[in-house]
Amino acid sequence: MIVIIKRNATTQSIEELKGDLRKKGFDIHESQGTTTTILGLVGDTSNLSEDQLLSYDAVEAVKRIREPYKLANRSVHPKDTIIDVCGRKIGGGNFQVIAGPCSIETKEQITEVARDVKKSGAGLLRGGAFKPRTSPYSFQGLQENGLELLLEAKKATGLPVVTEIMRVGHIDLFRDVDVIQVGTRNMQNFELLKELGKLDKPILLKRGMANTLDELLMSAEYIMAGGNENVILCERGIRTFETSTRNTLDISAIPMLRKKTHLPILVDPSHASGIRHMVEPLSMAAIAAGADGLMIEVHNNPAKALCDGPQSLTPSMFDELMEKINRTVEFFHDLQ
Ligand code: PEP
Ligand code: MN
Repeated sequence: MIVIIKRNATTQSIEELKGDLRKKGFDIHESQGTTTTILGLVGDTSNLSEDQLLSYDAVEAVKRIREPYKLANRSVHPKDTIIDVCGRKIGGGNFQVIAGPCSIETKEQITEVARDVKKSGAGLLRGGAFKPRTSPYSFQGLQENGLELLLEAKKATGLPVVTEIMRVGHIDLFRDVDVIQVGTRNMQNFELLKELGKLDKPILLKRGMANTLDELLMSAEYIMAGGNENVILCERGIRTFETSTRNTLDISAIPMLRKKTHLPILVDPSHASGIRHMVEPLSMAAIAAGADGLMIEVHNNPAKALCDGPQSLTPSMFDELMEKINRTVEFFHDLQ
């Protein structure tokens, strides 16, 4: 970390700052230019906040040399992390597709979709039981009953399941869930992230719709700092000025995250676009940009879906898409 000293700072205020920093255990490399004095701090600065330093009279600006996330940082862990969900590997060249309805609606619906997506080659089944809806009057999910139906579909098909959690108090209910999803709206629910850090279960962490990549990685760090290093990141589109799609898929996030972190990176083209016909081209783009997998919404009757029908594929559309996904993954694999 580098601390830039104000031009007119008094010697006393600089000495006070240096004294405090030394007390915190840092070595200080001071360099005096003709107009600017710079202090280089040597030591672990991850617990030192920029704001704390900026509150000193002598400090003009503070610059971090290293990112504040350690465990998620590729520089600390150069090899790709591979997450194993009941034998399905994600990351490090292992590509997985998670598919299923936005919400679990009935036993028939979830079991039928589970059988169909499995036949088409999906590795994991998704389905929401606790739904974060913009309106309190919209369908909120079948809640505990939905989780039971999801676990029945898991038993019927053998597919591991992914479902979203919204509150700490529900963690016990999720004990038989294979991957716990943290949705875009809860990416910075730090109390939830801390509790999920105590589990030994993969967490699918979706990017907040208005969050930077570094903020996403800091949220991953919350989970990892608690001891749970099984974090899968998911780019699901961000808010922009564009209104013709539900969100804007940030394709750049994939190669940028690849550089910043060793964690697997999924893409959700369904929530990114909100439009069925865009799911295929965005899936292709995600694979080309280096994603480790996709999360796709599939419904047996999208016109009657209780949530996100316009972006849901029918099982036969998904089947066709899986063929293209497999060929595209192979093509880009061979290119490397
Ligand atoms: C979902 O995957 O069901 C969901 C609600 O997604 P997001 O949090 O990305 O909106
Ligand atoms: Mn949805």
